[in-house]
Amino acid sequence: MRKPLVAGNWKMNGSSASNNVLLDGIIAKSDTFASVDVALFPPAVYLHQVQQALAGTGLFWGTQNLSQFNQGAYTGEISALMLADFDCDYVLIGHSERRCLYAELDLDQRVLDRIVAEKYEMSVKAGITPIICIGESPEEHAVGRTEEVIARLLDTVIAYQGVEGLAHTVLAYEPVWAIGTGRSATPEWAQDVHSFMRQRVAKHDPTIAESLRILYGGSVNSNNAAPLFSQPDVDGGLVGGGSLNADEFVKICQAAV
Ligand code: 13P
Repeated sequence: MRKPLVAGNWKMNGSSASNNVLLDGIIAKSDTFASVDVALFPPAVYLHQVQQALAGTGLFWGTQNLSQFNQGAYTGEISALMLADFDCDYVLIGHSERRCLYAELDLDQRVLDRIVAEKYEMSVKAGITPIICIGESPEEHAVGRTEEVIARLLDTVIAYQGVEGLAHTVLAYEPVWAIGTGRSATPEWAQDVHSFMRQRVAKHDPTIAESLRILYGGSVNSNNAAPLFSQPDVDGGLVGGGSLNADEFVKICQAAV
């Protein structure tokens, strides 16, 4: 049995004061989703606040990005070693907003996949659980290239660390057309893609594939969470907007119980 995971990606939202309200609201109800792993991803400047608030609660936390390098002249970047030093549990890798909004747009998709694989390698070596985000753009979706896009990144990641690295990894299917649009994938669509991902990994190692957690992300809310999470290959969610309000996020976590 795979333990469900619900991850709240705060993106670039929050303040010390609003974070406290959000954290208090989630922690107060955490016994209602005790059978679910829950992880919060604040902006880096608030990591310390979140780390302190979650100590002893059983809730996890992580960062929204990391560098593919260990140390040196990389202004604005944070390394896997630093995150490990700070006892970070999880890191998001390859989020589409990184791909689309920062330099990464100009790069060839294969170069991008390689950078994701390098970041993945860094996090695995540092003992931080990566959540690798994968998903097709609206254009790719329109012409039926979903499986091709997903297979390309999965194969690159496996080539870097071997399939063994996936034993300590979480995958997130995040179709770009569903992120922040209010237009979630249907449960059936999500199930088909998640099943494809699991089968792709199973070709290398069926045991690792069976234990691999695959999250769905893209306009998850308290109404659609239960039907999505009840699909056999959907092991929880990666939630953006729905993680910024305690009541809404608690309901989403409860839907994974
Ligand atoms: P929304 O839930 O706001 O669509 O964002 C999804 C996402 O990008 C999570 O990483």
